[in-house]
Amino acid sequence: MADLSRARDRMVDVHLAGRDIRDRNVLDAMREVPREVFVDAGMREFAYEDSPLPIGEGQTISQPYIVALMIHAAGIAAGERVLEVGSGSGYAAAVMSRIAGRVHTIERHAPLAAQARERFEALRYDNIELRVGDGSRGWPEAAPFDAILVAAGAPDTPPALREQLAIGGRLVIPVGEDGQHQRLRRITRTGPETYEQDDLGGVMFVPLIGEQGWAEDGRRAAGNPVPARERSVPEMIAEAALPLPDLDDDDFADPFERFAHCRVVMLGEASHGTAEFYRARTEITRRLVERHGFTIVALEADWPDAAALDRHVRHRPPRADAEPVFQRFPTWMWRNAEFAELVVWLRARNHGRPREQQVGMHGLDMYNLGGSIAAVLEYLDKVDPEAAAVARERYGCLTPWQKEPGTYGRAVLTRGYAKCEAEVTRQLHELLQRRLEYAARDGDEFLDAAQNARLVAAAERYYRVMYYGGAQSWNLRDTHMFETLQHLLDARGPEAKAVVWAHNSHIGDARHTEMGRARDELNIGQLCREHFGEGVALVGLGTHAGTVAAAHDWDDDMQVMKVRPSRADTVERLCHDSGVRRFLLDLGEGRDGALDRRLLEPRLERFIGVIYRPDTELQSHYAEVTLPRQFDAWVWFDETRAVTPIGPTHPGPGIPVTWPTGL
Ligand code: SAM
Repeated sequence: MADLSRARDRMVDVHLAGRDIRDRNVLDAMREVPREVFVDAGMREFAYEDSPLPIGEGQTISQPYIVALMIHAAGIAAGERVLEVGSGSGYAAAVMSRIAGRVHTIERHAPLAAQARERFEALRYDNIELRVGDGSRGWPEAAPFDAILVAAGAPDTPPALREQLAIGGRLVIPVGEDGQHQRLRRITRTGPETYEQDDLGGVMFVPLIGEQGWAEDGRRAAGNPVPARERSVPEMIAEAALPLPDLDDDDFADPFERFAHCRVVMLGEASHGTAEFYRARTEITRRLVERHGFTIVALEADWPDAAALDRHVRHRPPRADAEPVFQRFPTWMWRNAEFAELVVWLRARNHGRPREQQVGMHGLDMYNLGGSIAAVLEYLDKVDPEAAAVARERYGCLTPWQKEPGTYGRAVLTRGYAKCEAEVTRQLHELLQRRLEYAARDGDEFLDAAQNARLVAAAERYYRVMYYGGAQSWNLRDTHMFETLQHLLDARGPEAKAVVWAHNSHIGDARHTEMGRARDELNIGQLCREHFGEGVALVGLGTHAGTVAAAHDWDDDMQVMKVRPSRADTVERLCHDSGVRRFLLDLGEGRDGALDRRLLEPRLERFIGVIYRPDTELQSHYAEVTLPRQFDAWVWFDETRAVTPIGPTHPGPGIPVTWPTGL
């Protein structure tokens, strides 16, 4: 016996500690349990070789290294409850019993079970309970277990075993299709419905024969018909996705009530010219307004233009010298029949309601510099003509560039016009300093003027840095959008809730896309997450193919273009291949664990703005993203069509140039 104990130490030192088993508990337990007791008398001299040995009934005692690896992978700690499926000789159960509090072990062959039981008794290992039966169904009466080890290969993880894991419990199981070769999996239960999975490498085990394993004839048993690892990502999407009814259906917005508790719900779009994106966002917005008290609709639109819509939907008179709204490229982005429906509905909804219950419509963007300057001046002309004269002089510095602010940056460089910065900042501060006095006359009018003054200051910076290119101008723009949203919420009070409509590139958290990773760009979605945490929902919208309203180049005419079917290596293609034509998919940690892991791999996603260039689509429109971190949810329309533009250049469904006021 003395010889064998030396052999045992050697086995532990060479085959276990000498490889990668560092777990003290495991090494000590394997030094303690006499493996020779668990093999037939004729095999004892081989007991400390690192190999499996026959134990009768066509079965084997596992190789010591694999026993150690599995116990180590399961992280068995002192006092824990453990289940083993496939007692065989009883050796692994004996080793575990030296670490755990209690070990339950199941063996399907009664003679093997009887032998193992005798061995436990002889060694006085009395914290092991053994029974004969089908272990693929687990041991429900003794569950939950902190660890489950399966010593036989299954076609897939038996659901019963997953269910019998305690939260935080680990299941270590060989899984493979051919009954002989498997991959060792560790499944950790992270919550009542959530699991994480790791691959621990290739192994070879005898088959797990039972209701949730293999049938006796080697076929997959009825209780375990389809292995999870055979499922493709599109199949997993099809299973996890919530199919959406038709956009005309009254129930379309039902599933979106899951976001109603949020302070801010951000609705994206994969292009600026897709009818379904506008219609879906209208339906969702209506529902959030009607049933959940949202009173702010904030758009990726220019503040002064959206302010005219706001006056219209809130039944306030238009500004005296108001110009028609959304006259500059890209007109169709807000002058389209689908968006007009939201405007019409909001106006009707606000009719006759007190001011504090009315829903406002606002622009977060900063491109209409001229419109903002005019609005500040007109306001001051009304409330404080002296201040208006000073403001006129200050803004005069920017006058030459009002029509073409993009050239301002160059002028600053060549002619030292940096003094404009000081002038527009001083103007903003003065206006804000007189907040109490001005706001006392009309709070809404003041909010509008202050926001326009902020915008002039932000736009001055924006056009100045735009000249240098890089991330700074984009970051200024999205920071301005975020600050504008905050001002809107503040103005409405601590309970105020907002729906934001903007492109996916603004809403999908930039840290999880190429924008943040490769270009140091941030966006309003990221800033909202950082600020509101769980109080914001980022919802992306995507499509596979169809048509879109877009231009080939900036200032070119709008065209209805064909959207190329999504490329094979993209997020969109996975959604298309799911076969579900319209759906809502919840994303993020703690949702569908398996799908989440599969989607974590960075993939391309398509971004069509107001410009679409199908010929160079890959370079111009695809960027790498990590979808389940970019958004909290993803809305899918497999086939989409272009918006219906309205206005002078697009005589549409009878909507006049003076829209919206001419309605
Ligand atoms: N842990 C064992 C040891 O240390 O000796 C090795 C077990 S051996 C590799 C696999 C065992 O799983 C066999 O004894 C086999 O009879 C048993 N087995 C296979 N399917 C089973 C099932 N559904 N329930 C219980 N035992 C099963």
